[in-house]
Amino acid sequence: MPNDRATGLKPVAQPAALPVALIDPGHGGHDPGAVYDGVREADLNLAIALRLKSIWAAGFKPMALYLTREEDRFVALTHRAEMANELGADLFVSIHCDASPRPEVSGFSVHHAPGAEGGEILARCLHGALVRALPGRRDRGIIPSSFLVLKRTAMPACLVECEFLSHAESRAWLQTPEAQNLLAQAVRQGLEEFLHAAV
Ligand SMILES: [Zn+2]
Repeated sequence: MPNDRATGLKPVAQPAALPVALIDPGHGGHDPGAVYDGVREADLNLAIALRLKSIWAAGFKPMALYLTREEDRFVALTHRAEMANELGADLFVSIHCDASPRPEVSGFSVHHAPGAEGGEILARCLHGALVRALPGRRDRGIIPSSFLVLKRTAMPACLVECEFLSHAESRAWLQTPEAQNLLAQAVRQGLEEFLHAAV
């Protein structure tokens, strides 16, 4: 039997598997999330996530990207976390828009599970990119939050609240392609920074 030494052949090095990011557009299907003036949070979350996917396809290749949903359909919260764990995702980012009974409240925030070290690092990367991308918008900071998708996921995980649907100007802004593009670009930048920080 020939072996590597006898033939001089070397085993072909397998290319290292790309890190995997799972992006989770919140809500969908019979769960529209927040609804103000006929604008559904589920639709905005999906538009931002799909924008991120198209930016990714256009050039950002150091990570493989998956979405928990790519159309308007319901996905249970526990199933979203299971998808991340079963996929063996290296990081998880849930995309949401916020709402408040006080219509004057606005701004963006990044959430991680309390005490989650990887989640905190990812949150700092995402938050820094959002602050740079959205200089005119209110920064509500990094907030430890016990959201189910953050507690049940086994990898660094964050939830981004992009802006408030309950705030009239923010709601109008969220619907523009410019806003969706800025938000998607910022998330992409944050992921890229996290990847560099983690190496
Ligand atoms: Zn939501």
